Amino acid sequence: MVKKDEYLEDSFLGSREAVKSMPKETMPEEGMDPDLAETLIKHIRLDEAKADQNFATFCTTQMEPQANELMLEALNTNSIDKSEYPKTAAIENYCVAMLGHLWGLDESKKFIDDYIGTSTVGSSEGCMLGGLGLLFSWKHRAKKAGIDIDDLHHHRPNLVIVSSYQVVWEKFCNYWNVEMREVPMDPQTLSLDMNTVMDYVDENTIGIVSIQGITYTGGIDDAQKLDELVEAYNQKHPDLPIHIHVDAASGGFYCPFVEGFKPWDFRLKNVVSINASGHKYGMVYPGIGWVVWRENSEECLPHELRFAVPYLGGTVDSIAINFSRSGAHIIGQYYNLVRFGKEGYHDIMENNHEVATKLSEKLNSYDIFEMVHTGAGNNLPIVCWKLAEDAKVKWTLYDLEDKIKEFGWQVPAYPLPAIKGVDKTITVARVVCRPAMTMTICDDFIEDLDESIKELNKKFN
Ligand SMILES: *Cc1c(COP(=O)(O)O)cnc(C)c1O
Repeated sequence: MVKKDEYLEDSFLGSREAVKSMPKETMPEEGMDPDLAETLIKHIRLDEAKADQNFATFCTTQMEPQANELMLEALNTNSIDKSEYPKTAAIENYCVAMLGHLWGLDESKKFIDDYIGTSTVGSSEGCMLGGLGLLFSWKHRAKKAGIDIDDLHHHRPNLVIVSSYQVVWEKFCNYWNVEMREVPMDPQTLSLDMNTVMDYVDENTIGIVSIQGITYTGGIDDAQKLDELVEAYNQKHPDLPIHIHVDAASGGFYCPFVEGFKPWDFRLKNVVSINASGHKYGMVYPGIGWVVWRENSEECLPHELRFAVPYLGGTVDSIAINFSRSGAHIIGQYYNLVRFGKEGYHDIMENNHEVATKLSEKLNSYDIFEMVHTGAGNNLPIVCWKLAEDAKVKWTLYDLEDKIKEFGWQVPAYPLPAIKGVDKTITVARVVCRPAMTMTICDDFIEDLDESIKELNKKFN
């Protein structure tokens, strides 16, 4: 006769482990069976595995199986170790060159051996590097122009940016002791105010950031107009010209593939650097961004940002802030670029646009909402709205956020940053339409939105 615990050995639900709580505060003395560890960790994550219902994030939640496999194979590589993984390093350079060309660099020039950019962990690292490029090159210019850059009382460097900046710019300014000069949003465009922006500029300005895809609303700064204003300023101040960095975290992988966007990139003379998130519309899983400079010159990409790394075997140049990190995401990015091509990205982004248009029209049709940013027209597919002034409802967008969450959807509500001449707080809700949001998902969401609004009207009347 077999003993009880022998024939029950394979029954997980009958095991003692199934009723034990998982270690939390302290590391356990003894380990556990690998299958068991896998199962229990899956159980911890049960209620967070609905990434495709998360309309708050810009980040990729789906890649093709072929990309998954390529990335899994590359997971154990180290992208910084360019002598151990020279092909990954080469592929990183191909991506940088392709992006440079996509963003308006001279098509006849070759950049793969030129180190005009780098992959990063995300746009945050890209912004940080772009900002540092502005800071160091300003220091060089200012010194030459006879400014005492150590006299922080009179010459503390400053950065000019719209009030609806992404938090990384606040980090940049805090970390490097740069004064942030926030320009309140233009009330009409809810973006960088072209009537006032140049009032914020002086000899200590390291640069102006132009945002191609404002996180809060999905709007974009008028980079072309900004470039004209900056050019006029620079004509008068040839010793201390202003540089523009474009934060294209979301627009960088969208605008090149969709017609209708005004020039925002290296086609504009005073744009020196651009960052984008590979894990947003670049369609790679979270963990990759890019920053590219106009050229490999002291004026654009000062030497302080470049480091020769001798201890990995063979000296290689590195621009990144982070050091070791898997090469998987670089491989995933290259896969997407060559697998989809410009045509593929175009089709995907157009589909996205169609979904965003439908959702915008639906929201408009309720008569209680006012669109702050519609995904229709020549826009990023980001849908942002507020309650209309005359809406006869007693609930708020925060109530809607809670209600729609009961159906599994995440639609954040939050206040907008400072707008010129507007005192009261404006609360908005936002849906980021991503490639993973098919029309089927959108239709399903709209049904639940209808139901949510009905329930809210009943509850608050
Ligand atoms: C998302 C975003 C960032 C930060 O990007 P990560 O890739 O998440 O680090 C910076 N700027 C803007 C405008 C963004 O939308």
